[in-house]
Amino acid sequence: MQDHQRWPERVRLFEVGPRDGLQHEPSTLPVATRLEFIRRLAEAGLRDIEIGSFVHPRWVPQMADTDDLVARIPSLTGVRLWALVPNLTGFARAVAAGATNLCFLVSASETHSRKNLNRPIAEAIAEVERLAEAAARRGAPWRGYVSVAFGCPYEGAVDFGAVLTLARRMLDLGARQVSLGDTTGMGNPRQVGEAARQALDEFGPDKLALHFHDTRGLGMTNAYVALEEGVNSFDTSAGGIGGCPYAPGAAGNLSTEDLVQLLRSLGVECAVDFDKLISVARWLDAEAKVRVHSRSHRYACSQATAGAH
Ligand code: ZN
Repeated sequence: MQDHQRWPERVRLFEVGPRDGLQHEPSTLPVATRLEFIRRLAEAGLRDIEIGSFVHPRWVPQMADTDDLVARIPSLTGVRLWALVPNLTGFARAVAAGATNLCFLVSASETHSRKNLNRPIAEAIAEVERLAEAAARRGAPWRGYVSVAFGCPYEGAVDFGAVLTLARRMLDLGARQVSLGDTTGMGNPRQVGEAARQALDEFGPDKLALHFHDTRGLGMTNAYVALEEGVNSFDTSAGGIGGCPYAPGAAGNLSTEDLVQLLRSLGVECAVDFDKLISVARWLDAEAKVRVHSRSHRYACSQATAGAH
């Protein structure tokens, strides 16, 4: 059992809004708007930004122009830009476009793996093995995702031991970090606390990130419990964007600004500018016409209205 210090002094945020957020939006944003979103996130201090994915456009039309986006992206000093690559075809596209930091994906439930990745888990892992080899040849850093780590919309409960095995396999293959995803927001705080302890014992805090969705309103509570256990890396999405297109109004990813608000109130550092994040949320809402779910944004709007009287 590794010793880990509880309550991290500092938290790292991995921004997933331009990928996980936008891919669940009903409309597809023009490349110029996606670029502006990324520029604003970098300006707010986010240092790891997932900018898009190389999934087949038939499955995720919102990400269809990621090749163009990567080719047009300006260099943002000190910012690592990540792209999700589901298979070797996507890998070839990513490399041709000039993507350097990659994310590979497996799913912890057999049904979700077949429906989402079109292949059983064993084949998904075999594909990650090939991707890891290809990434190693190019010296490209990559990060691993385990989807539905806290519950599957098709199968219900997911064996967390199996999640840890998949995560361990990805780290052994060379992943810089593994992110365990509560893809459809099914996790509860008790379960997350226990899972965080197990994952920290297994991997230590540097290799682990947690990825929450606020689908049922438990995203923030889950993050808080994980933080208490010593988890220091979270995936979040500006504006909490990314609600399920089939459930109008449903909240999406855990919101970056809401988590930053929590961290600030707890005295935990995170090197992101809260006011600039609020501007990003305002821009998403007013200019990009993306539905924003964050409470901090709603509060900022109410203050602005109150100030006008
Ligand atoms: Zn997600």
